[in-house]
Amino acid sequence: MPVDLLQRNVPLHGLNSFGLPAHAGWFASIDTLAQLTALMNLPEWASLPRFILGGGSNLVLTGDFAGLMLHVRIAGREQIAEEMDAWIVRAGAGENWHDFVCWTLAHGWPGLENLALIPGTVGAAPVQNIGAYGLEIAERFEYLEAVDLETGKIVRFDHAASQFGYRDSVFKREAAGRYLITAVAFRLPKRWRPVTCYADLAQELETRQIASPTARQIADAVMAIRLRKLPDPARIGNVGSFFKNPLVDAATFAHLADRYPGLPRYLQPNGTIKLAAGWLIERCGWKGRNLGPAGVYEHQALVLVNRGGANGVDVLRLARAIQASVQTEFGIELELEPVVL
Ligand code: NAP
Repeated sequence: MPVDLLQRNVPLHGLNSFGLPAHAGWFASIDTLAQLTALMNLPEWASLPRFILGGGSNLVLTGDFAGLMLHVRIAGREQIAEEMDAWIVRAGAGENWHDFVCWTLAHGWPGLENLALIPGTVGAAPVQNIGAYGLEIAERFEYLEAVDLETGKIVRFDHAASQFGYRDSVFKREAAGRYLITAVAFRLPKRWRPVTCYADLAQELETRQIASPTARQIADAVMAIRLRKLPDPARIGNVGSFFKNPLVDAATFAHLADRYPGLPRYLQPNGTIKLAAGWLIERCGWKGRNLGPAGVYEHQALVLVNRGGANGVDVLRLARAIQASVQTEFGIELELEPVVL
């Protein structure tokens, strides 16, 4: 095993989409399972705290990380089965998510089109159960493979074991840090139906005069909306949505709706009501505002941005100020969506 697999003091600036400055004391790129096994046999393995890094697109680095950062880059995409009602496809955890979505569509396998252009990797997608425009990956998930970093065993998680929730899974909770996801398999339906319930998407398709969209046309529409509304991380550092949409009970909603007649509401299957965090933040006057070098994106108040030279502490200071405003105005606690390290 090449000893230089383990690097020291690696800058992370280019490995997180916020462009935040930080270093990893120890760093290893994982391109193969064999490399991971070799790493686990090194004497340093047991003593160092570890952090698993994918595309760095849902991460706020608040300073240097003294432990070992594992950068997952495992590649590969394949169709592994064709069933009566579905195509089953599998991709390495290091594959770029959007490229993978485009690859499925190019093969004529629909099902992931609403999730086009979400930054990040295939392996990170199930961790927070990425979702957009009325679809979550939980709805297309078949299983994932992971290495148990405590025992070295390869384990498989099916849908139930992954415990998906709203932008949530077991890998964000009890299993956080224990399993390194190496591959994810998806079930793409042959009897596909377009999901066009979100107003922005329906409007975009109407503008394009598309009444019965194909999956590719939905992906194109989603991409156009995202490019208009969300900042390109290559130009303006960001991690997409910075806060989760809060869920409230009917009584809380009724109380708020009395005071704020335009308050958007999205009824959930379990009877709770989802509020739009971006609406609450905008209402508190934060849209387009800056606090030091961190700011709130002018086209979407749910997105915090690096105006240039921000560090993780600047970003968190802004996030805390927004949380305080929303708490004071609405009595609602906003929860952060990205991982803070
Ligand atoms: P939007 O259309 O301005 O809507 C604001 C919020 O209201 C969204 O967050 C969305 O919740 C909710 N919403 C809108 N229409 C809904 C409907 N018909 N049923 C249920 N909930 C509805 O949102 P946006 O900020 O431009 O984002 C568009 C989509 O991209 C959203 O689905 C958003 O979650 C997604 N997105 C995801 C990520 C990520 O996974 N990290 C990052 C950026 C954007 P939901 O967020 O629950 O969908």
